[in-house]
Amino acid sequence: MSNAPTPDIQVLSTLNADGSRRWLKPKLSPGRFLNYRRAVGYLLIAFFCALPHIRIMGKPPILLDLLRREFTFFGVTLYPTDTLLLALLVLSVFLTIFFLTAMFGRVWCGWGCPQTVYLELVYRPIERFFEGAPGRKKKQGGWRKPAKLVTYLVISFALANTFIAYFVGTDDLFRWMLGSPFNHPVPFLVMAVTTFLMMFDFAFFREQVCIVACPYGRFQSVMLDRNSLIITYDENRGEPRGKKRRASKSKPTDVSLKVMPEEPALGDCIDCKMCVTTCPTGIDIRDGLQLECVNCAQCIDACDSVMDKIGKPRGLIRYGSQAAVLDGEKSRFIRPRTVLYPAIITVLFTGFLFVLITRAPAYVSVLRQRGAPYAVLEDGSVVNSVTMKVQNRRPDESLYTFSLVDLESGVVEVPGEAFTVVPRETVSRPMLLKAPSSSFPSGSRDVTIRITDNEGFEKDVTYRMMAPRFTGDGSATTRQPVDEEAGDE
Ligand code: SF4
Ligand code: SF4
Repeated sequence: MSNAPTPDIQVLSTLNADGSRRWLKPKLSPGRFLNYRRAVGYLLIAFFCALPHIRIMGKPPILLDLLRREFTFFGVTLYPTDTLLLALLVLSVFLTIFFLTAMFGRVWCGWGCPQTVYLELVYRPIERFFEGAPGRKKKQGGWRKPAKLVTYLVISFALANTFIAYFVGTDDLFRWMLGSPFNHPVPFLVMAVTTFLMMFDFAFFREQVCIVACPYGRFQSVMLDRNSLIITYDENRGEPRGKKRRASKSKPTDVSLKVMPEEPALGDCIDCKMCVTTCPTGIDIRDGLQLECVNCAQCIDACDSVMDKIGKPRGLIRYGSQAAVLDGEKSRFIRPRTVLYPAIITVLFTGFLFVLITRAPAYVSVLRQRGAPYAVLEDGSVVNSVTMKVQNRRPDESLYTFSLVDLESGVVEVPGEAFTVVPRETVSRPMLLKAPSSSFPSGSRDVTIRITDNEGFEKDVTYRMMAPRFTGDGSATTRQPVDEEAGDE
């Protein structure tokens, strides 16, 4: 037996005092919010499963192609070279989350987060189907648990493949699924690990993701304020809580006057704990705002049904701000953070659209050849080997040609042929730049390479040619090669 001291307060809703896991089996509380959440949740699941199969300009609406390093969002493809666009997009997304949280609390957690949606609307219903609903008679049969786990596995496998489709696209995914795992061991391993992680999460780890793993829950205390919309217990109305004493049915036996202790005036909370037993994170909302609360609204549905039964108005637990529910103030929607966030988001998103619209239709760069950046020919001229890299961002195939802008200064291009690049592909071609040694007074010189395509694109890239340092007698001394890339910012 452990000698570790046991805490006198509960430190985590999913831990017993001895540190063992407290398994939560929340009771389902039917009600209007559960109906709304089901409608939203199943719609989101259908959306999530359908999206990889839809095509916009030949690509899925969302494709985070890590292998090709392309990120497609509804017809717009971003590349790692689009650092400004990616930064503006990520900042806009984060600030939008901050803004929505300041306004509506953790509405995402309860209504949109895949963790909550799949756990509460897919995995737990399966568990109830096989093993019975918590609080009701357990369904008998040793086959039930294995059958539940097999069903979990099938669903996890399907979800894992759908999830992977967002990163590789359905074409590659189907090819892998229909082929032998030995032909593509790495994708097979990724799929197996993803399925395992889904099983681990939804069959075992469950609400722990929201309580201990998800950073968003940890940040909410700085994102919320007293006027944010959250799920709140109205303690002014509910306290002091307690069971109402029933009127005695026995008749008085004597007529002597008896001073009865005065029954304390009780609030509307009858301490039935229905809001606690239905909570998927195991907390008591009556203790106030807690980071474990994922705003699933199950406690509202539970308490509303209790209020209906005891003939009290609904809303002892309800959506409301702390200012309104606890302090009786009017909720303020206009506050510094709800004005500043949209203002900054508007600026960032406008910047994003501007950069996107004015983005060059091709990304070009000139790379110095590693190891041997130059060579001195017999006639004394210096040759630099470079690699031209072109990424076509147009929706159509383009033909690219190269020329030197400053030919009058003696640089000649050893011709590299024009080449075509299909949409969204990157092609690299070697090219030689040649110049007489006399044009390198200090061991290097700049040249300007012009890249054009057949649709009017034109881009000048300045490249620094390297040469040995020539001594007075005309012989060359070697120089340390430098890796360098010139091109788009
Ligand atoms: S469900 Fe309502 S009445 Fe019952 S304990 Fe919770 S707050 Fe009190
Ligand atoms: S306290 Fe209520 S809203 Fe929060 S997680 Fe528990 S049941 Fe859901």
